[in-house]
Amino acid sequence: MGNDQDEQCPCGSGKLYEDCCKKEYDAANQVKEKLKHALNDPKKSTELQELLKQFKDKQ
Ligand SMILES: [Zn+2]
Repeated sequence: MGNDQDEQCPCGSGKLYEDCCKKEYDAANQVKEKLKHALNDPKKSTELQELLKQFKDKQ
């Protein structure tokens, strides 16, 4: 186990991973979790569309 929290972000920004893409990575994971739930619930298709829109905007 290294000291991952002090590692530079692999995106090449020079910032620490925690201050850079980690938030986006976590946010993306949250969206994926919501998508998983939404896919199991047809009633949430509207919410799903919104989430996909938000997700794409951040790419
Ligand atoms: Zn980054």
